[in-house]
Amino acid sequence: MNFSFLHPLRTGAALLLLIPLASTSSVTNWAERGPAKTSPIAKAPTASPLQGAKPDPAVIAQFGLYNNATLQKLIDTKGKQMTAVSDRPGDYGFTVVDSPIINAFATPDGHVYFTRGIMAYFNDEAQFAGVLGHELGHITAQHGKKQQTRGTIAGIGMILGSVLAPRVMQSVGGVAQQVVGLGMLKYSRNDENEADGLGVKYSTKIGYDASHMADFFQTLQRTEAQSGAGGIPTFLSSHPNSADRYTRVKSLAAQAKQSAGRSTFAVNRDQYLRSIEGLNYGEDPRQGFVESGVFYHPDLKFRFPIPSGWKSQNSPEQFQMAEPNGKALLVFLGAGNTSLDAAGQALAKQIGLQSANAQKTTINGFPALVFEGDQAATDQQSTPAHVLAQLIQDGQSVYAFVGLAAPASFSTYAPQFQQVAQGYARLTDASKLNRQPEHIRIKTATTATTLASALAANGIPSKRYEELAILNGMKTTDRLSKGMLYKVVGK
Ligand SMILES: [Zn+2]
Repeated sequence: MNFSFLHPLRTGAALLLLIPLASTSSVTNWAERGPAKTSPIAKAPTASPLQGAKPDPAVIAQFGLYNNATLQKLIDTKGKQMTAVSDRPGDYGFTVVDSPIINAFATPDGHVYFTRGIMAYFNDEAQFAGVLGHELGHITAQHGKKQQTRGTIAGIGMILGSVLAPRVMQSVGGVAQQVVGLGMLKYSRNDENEADGLGVKYSTKIGYDASHMADFFQTLQRTEAQSGAGGIPTFLSSHPNSADRYTRVKSLAAQAKQSAGRSTFAVNRDQYLRSIEGLNYGEDPRQGFVESGVFYHPDLKFRFPIPSGWKSQNSPEQFQMAEPNGKALLVFLGAGNTSLDAAGQALAKQIGLQSANAQKTTINGFPALVFEGDQAATDQQSTPAHVLAQLIQDGQSVYAFVGLAAPASFSTYAPQFQQVAQGYARLTDASKLNRQPEHIRIKTATTATTLASALAANGIPSKRYEELAILNGMKTTDRLSKGMLYKVVGK
């Protein structure tokens, strides 16, 4: 079990996702995967003006911002250039988020998000620009709005917010899927094809060679084939005909180049590679990582066990553990720098607990507060969850373990909820405390050689050659000419 969905857990943001998300924007995905978000209630499209210039706080809560001035400037500049030549210019926004998942997605309100994961896998600006145009295309062609009207979208709001919302608790069976899949928004083939066409059109219009966008499909397919090792989400499952898509984009690109009225098109390979020098690669263990059934947080210096066989997911706000069949959910989150009593009261209110009798106790030596109760039902459809909240005071911080299950099966899972909290401890193991993320390093071939030899010369173990070949958009046997740039990863 090795998910790429482990996101940073940070202090401070505390209870945000416990509140059902009010936003109704849905998220559209590059390659139909990754987070999708909407209100649990399907709403008719509104005539409200586009709000896309600012990133959605709910998306940032889920992923975190990736603070990299170079990449943010690149996406802003190219995004604005493309917006100006698009079919529906508007005040759109562009943001790089801190996730190792290879993904890009757009909200219909006009914001495009690229993960640092996808930025690591592009090999030139033309690939980047093609995907940017594709996502912008979903916005300008208003695909997300159609989706929203059809009411078919599941959302990242469900990850916890709506799960705790009584109305969605009825679908506790869907929790595990949310945790693992983050809710996939599927576009129709037509929408997807249209967005591909717009990606070609917009990237060509601002001067790029759009055929490179098709090449990036191959990178995605290869990451999928490798996903057993890397846990990269499926691309092919939602694109059974991606070979067709590759051919189609290649031919659209050729046509676009012919009618563009110019003879040279930018690729900017070296420029792009230099812009991702130092980019974080893979999970950032500083923000929490799972190893052998234990969650470690080096920056916050704590650890606790994960119930055996459960799925887990880290995000800036919380760490979630789900029973494999979605019958129970245990969420760990920061509950503020306050007293246990105050934190407990705030938490009970946020969860909507009725008749919660809080008891002071100690858990593994830490001052603690525990309460249990039923969520208040707010409409007829709901099946409120039974909840066990265990709050632990660790120095200045209060952390909460919130366990949820249907009332009928709650007693089955309560002991596991308790065992996890009992296993909460300070992290003192230096090998965990000092864990560092890997980074992309751009190297120059000092002589004509194969990619595999170049990787070997940089001390990359042979078991990672294929992974690195995919990252470079090459085969291990491909030749590098003297002076050519290529990627390796290292601390
Ligand atoms: Zn798409």
